[in-house]
Amino acid sequence: QADSKIAIVGSGLIGQFWAMIFAGAGFKVTIFDIYPEQISKALESIKATLLKYESQGCLRGTLSAAKQAALVTGSNELQQCLDGASYVQECVPESVDLKRKVFEQMDPFITEEMVVATSSSCICVSQFADNLRHKHRTLVAHPVNPPYFIPLVEIVPGPWTLPDVTATCRALMELVGQTPVTLSREVAGFALNRIQYAIINECWNMYKANLLSAEDIDRVMTDGLGPRYAFIGPLETMHLNADGIVDYCKRYAQGAYNVCTTFEPPPVLYDVPTAEKILSEVEETIPLDKVVERRAWRDENLAALAALKRNR
Ligand code: NAD
Repeated sequence: QADSKIAIVGSGLIGQFWAMIFAGAGFKVTIFDIYPEQISKALESIKATLLKYESQGCLRGTLSAAKQAALVTGSNELQQCLDGASYVQECVPESVDLKRKVFEQMDPFITEEMVVATSSSCICVSQFADNLRHKHRTLVAHPVNPPYFIPLVEIVPGPWTLPDVTATCRALMELVGQTPVTLSREVAGFALNRIQYAIINECWNMYKANLLSAEDIDRVMTDGLGPRYAFIGPLETMHLNADGIVDYCKRYAQGAYNVCTTFEPPPVLYDVPTAEKILSEVEETIPLDKVVERRAWRDENLAALAALKRNR
């Protein structure tokens, strides 16, 4: 229910995005950070960003930016931040030791009604929550940057997570306009990074084999697979590219297998000499001092795509 409270622990980049997403759906949000000055900075940045989104026409929800910003408050006390919250989203830096410490600090304030999620990109709750009294209320809810415009959230329960905790988290993500996917169990890289690394590996290997330029490799995604995948996934693609997926397999599986047998093994680390070679190409269009500008351009385009997808 939108009258319940959300606690955000860690108010950096991702914590601020979560705060804006929950406020957009009308939730009261309390943010906590280890550094009090970071809390004030985060509150200011959230307000300014919401106002910017409002002026650009990409603000979520029905409330004005000012009303959404007023739903977000800060607290210098972890206990006060969690007090009365139905859902906690932890967003501290990616370190197993730090996650363990922060979850141990939260444990005394977790109730049997709370769901406590980590935003972690690679760390599973089994790596740090084993000693918690409330470990059965913890799980991963991994967003994708920038979460305001890329709605996917990977929900990854630990071995001890109660099924209703996973279900509640998924329902909440849907309620606030994110798009959850639920893994049945923990796996390295969750789903998105497993797929992403498979793609990067092949790009890296093709580049090293001198098959095509860095620019052209990226173009295969931006003007080839990417537009398609923004609307239909790889499995639906198989289904639509023949008379259904079974027909696709009958027609194309052998050809696909023949291609796959030519794949090199995954690169042993993405090596610096290759990275430097790619950089020398990429920097012709995006020099390192233009990366921030290019990120803003990416986010504008993702906002436009998110609006297009919402209206279809
Ligand atoms: P960040 O460095 O921007 O923010 C982390 C915040 O946590 C900082 O404000 C810091 O002061 C605070 N913090 C540090 N120690 C703390 C403590 N003990 N208690 C409370 N607050 C503390 O990091 P981020 O990019 O927002 O990432 C947060 C989490 O989200 C990480 O687990 C990361 O892997 C995950 N994530 C990041 C991205 C991304 O693209 N940045 C995407 C998806 C998930």
